[in-house]
Amino acid sequence: MRTSFWTSLFDLIVPRRCAICSNRLSPEESLLCADCEAELEKTPFHESPYDNPMARLFWGQFPIEKASAWFYYRPHSDPSKMIYDLKYHGQSLLGEDIGEQLALRHLPTGFFNDIDAIVPIPITCKRQRERGYNQSMQVARGICQVTHLPIFDKVIKRQHFSESQTHQSSTWERRENVRDAFQLIDADKIKGKHLLIIDDIVTTGATVIACGQELAKAEGVKLSVLSIGYTKE
Ligand SMILES: [Zn+2]
Repeated sequence: MRTSFWTSLFDLIVPRRCAICSNRLSPEESLLCADCEAELEKTPFHESPYDNPMARLFWGQFPIEKASAWFYYRPHSDPSKMIYDLKYHGQSLLGEDIGEQLALRHLPTGFFNDIDAIVPIPITCKRQRERGYNQSMQVARGICQVTHLPIFDKVIKRQHFSESQTHQSSTWERRENVRDAFQLIDADKIKGKHLLIIDDIVTTGATVIACGQELAKAEGVKLSVLSIGYTKE
């Protein structure tokens, strides 16, 4: 990362803190301190984006190309605090920083080379009003700063409020709940395009599958998936 005089000066006035342990960051560090960065259990999915446990969740569900996630997610772990802050503590800028790190990790492998546009998984209007932002959109913005790929945030919408997935136990229930949640609204715009779906955490993949199947209604669409975390079962 670039460290300028102004970055250093700004850091004196408003110290930047690690998104996991809250310790002060040095000017060379971004988002995470060196200790938390070393501790983070990263996935190797970017090395084999066409065939890995996350990509396999989507095989046969929609025209899947590549899938990858930054780290293995475990509920109540230290890194889960960062996701919680992103979703429930109104830290929208954190999402952009996470998106940047996610993109920088995947850029050298050529992950973005054949992608045409980014599609953040939409949230309902009600949720957006409550939260003030869509966390996947914030992550997409950070990815855009690194890759300069366009963000298509108006091609699909989430149409009805469904209960938070954390209250449902089985995979089947989650799938039922999100099955009709998405509606494609601009098929022409995505025709023949390779889109990158952005989600925060992929666990069963139910939300991504529902969104992907709706996007795939447009002719000739190819889909890849990138998330912050992947829950290892
Ligand atoms: Zn830390």
